[in-house]
Order: sequence, then C-alpha cells, then structure tokens
Amino acid sequence: MRPAGAPFNAGETRSAGPPRALYVHFPFCAHRCHYCDFSVTRAAAPPVDRWVSAIERELAWWFERGGWDRGAVLDTIFVGGGTPSLLGSTGMEELGDRIAAWFRVDPVRTEWTAEANPASFDARLGARWRAAGVNRLSLGVQSLDDAVLTWLGRLHDRCRATEAVSEARTAGFERVSLDLMFGLPPDVARDLAAEADALVALDVSHMSLYGLSVEPRTPLAEWIRMGRVRAPDEDRYAAEYRLLSRRLRAAGYEHYEVSNFARPGERCRHNWSYWNQSSYLALGPSAHGFLPPIRSWNVFRWDRYERALLAGHGPLEGWERVGSAEEELERIWLDLRTDRGLAPELMEEFAGNGARPEDWIEAGWLEERERRWVATIEGWLRLDTIVAALAGAERR
Ligand code: SF4
Repeated sequence: MRPAGAPFNAGETRSAGPPRALYVHFPFCAHRCHYCDFSVTRAAAPPVDRWVSAIERELAWWFERGGWDRGAVLDTIFVGGGTPSLLGSTGMEELGDRIAAWFRVDPVRTEWTAEANPASFDARLGARWRAAGVNRLSLGVQSLDDAVLTWLGRLHDRCRATEAVSEARTAGFERVSLDLMFGLPPDVARDLAAEADALVALDVSHMSLYGLSVEPRTPLAEWIRMGRVRAPDEDRYAAEYRLLSRRLRAAGYEHYEVSNFARPGERCRHNWSYWNQSSYLALGPSAHGFLPPIRSWNVFRWDRYERALLAGHGPLEGWERVGSAEEELERIWLDLRTDRGLAPELMEEFAGNGARPEDWIEAGWLEERERRWVATIEGWLRLDTIVAALAGAERR
C-alpha cells in the first residue's frame, strides 16, 4: 500500500483510455442514520456548487494523470451517497454538464443511476433528473414498517416511501430499484414477510438487500455497548435472508447476486463493472476506484477532500497495486457472488489442488450448472468459508 500523498503512477495501470464506468459520491445527508459510518457531512442545505466544482477538479486531475483523451462514451454512471436527492435538480444538471465536458453520455446507451432518499424526492425533481439524463433511480426505502424506520433513524415513513415510488413512475422512471435492510437486532420486532409482500406489490424492476452491520463509532454500536439493545444475531440474519430470497424469487425476481434481485433484463449494469473487475473511475470523498491493477481511494472527509483539490494535491488518500494472486482470489470471490458462478478453468485447478467442491454440492452450498459452480442461497450465506477454503487450495 502506498502512503497517503504518494504520487499516483498512471503508467502502472493497464488502461489505455478512461474507464467506461463512473461512480460519483455525494457526501451530504440532512441527518445521520443510527447505523451509518459512511463519508457523510450533515447539512440541510449542502454546498452543491462547491461539490460540483470539486468533482470537476477531480475529473481534470484524472484525465491529466491518465493522459486520456476526452469524449469516450460512458457505459454507466452511478451517483451515490450520502443523499444525492439533496443535489436538487440544478445540482444534478450541473453535474451532468461537468461530466459531459470529459465523457460522452449517451441518452440511450449510458445507464445513469442516482440514489434518492424518499424524504427528499418528488415527481418534480424526478422529471428534471430524467431530462438531465438520469434513467435509473435507486430509492433508499430500507423498510415499510414505521417503527423500524424510526429505529433506524430514517427520515421517511412507509407512506412517503410508497409515494416516492409512484412519483418516480410519474416522473418517467421505468427502472426503479429499492434498498431494503434486514438482520436487525432481536429486540426490533418486524413482520418481514408482510414487508416483502408490500414491496413486491410496488412492482419495481430491482431490489437490493443490506444486512445490518454494526460499525464502530455509530450510535448503534454505542447502544449495544451500553446494553440498551442486543447485537444482531446470525440466526435472524440467515432466516431473513432466506425468507426474502424465497419471496422475491417467487414473485419473479432473479436473485442474480448475493444482495441483488432483478426482473429479467433489469440487472444493474454499473455493478457488473465491480463484479467483472473492469476499470471504473470513482470521484468524491471516500470513493474507491480501480484502474487494473491499481486500486485507489480518496480522502475520506469532505472538507479535507475539497481542500486537497483546491490546493492542487489531487484527491487520493492512498493506492495499491493488486498482485496477480490477490486479483485471482478476488475474481473467485466475485464470480461466486453472482449467479454466473466460478469459471471452468478455475474449477479444474481447484479440484486438482485439494478443494472438495463435491462436499459443498452435497451440502447444498453449490450446484453445478453448465460446468460452472454456482452458489445456492445456503452457499451465499457461507461465501467466506467457501472462498477461504478455495484460497487455501490455491496456495498448495
Ligand atoms: S441516508 Fe444513507 S448515507 Fe445518509 S446517513 Fe442515512 S445511511 Fe448514511
């Protein structure tokens, strides 16, 4: 790992031109949820102009470092956060204009996703975003139970969440994804089956699941430390994961990645850049990018990120060269995360090295489909165990 501030050596990357996938992090929220440790600054009225200028500076920095030509078509853009709906309409338009100064954004070919919080999204904002080029919306619903939403520290209730979905449709979004949290502590009562059915009734094109993890320095971690709430337990996590997968698959969604479900043809293209180990550029505080074999990450805090760019230092906190063994192991893990499973050549290599996939097949963790190992729901619950065993086999 290179120390913070070490010069980034674009010559080490295998990328001849700029990546075709772009992630942009908007680091502001009106309020911090009780479980969140993301790079987020609380702001009711975020400094959108300053953020857009910083993003533009970062784009210029990358193009100069990479020696890239302008005008390459972007396959995907993902504006995440934070709460990108606090960008408002002009903020998203401005962002689109700055991106279009460096890349070509094709109204048909470019998948452009933006995250929105139901509390700060409405049909008017959605229509302006559609006109700016956003064609896929990811709504942070998290639950359809008001008590659960309050416990999580979310700003919206069930009614606002369902209204936001219909407002997205009114605005012209055909591709809508909903986020849902599960695996909450045992003290938090919840009828998840009823919530899943209500989510299915909203008939969106995509859903993503997030198992709650307890991060240090969050109010949730403090509550657990003080004994005010019990820590989440693995049994509830597994039971809820199975339930959600069963319910969503029965409703016609494809469970195509550990945490993601899509109607046929509606898989998120942007995320495949991560799962395919393709190159992607990531802008904004705390954003992590990958220009194979170089992985880099930006300064975490917004104020320091902005200061670094204004001072002409670039956005990076650090970067590292991913070695070929590490890259291979990561590929195994990523292949098994998705329903394409593990490639046949790796299958043979591991079979010859002492991993015993037949045991996992017998246990129902893996199944063989068209000469590929594909994880089942039970396998996805045990992915770390499988990959650790394969990694051990690889080193023999
Ligand atoms: S809305 Fe998302 S990013 Fe913002 S505080 Fe809540 S969990 Fe964190």
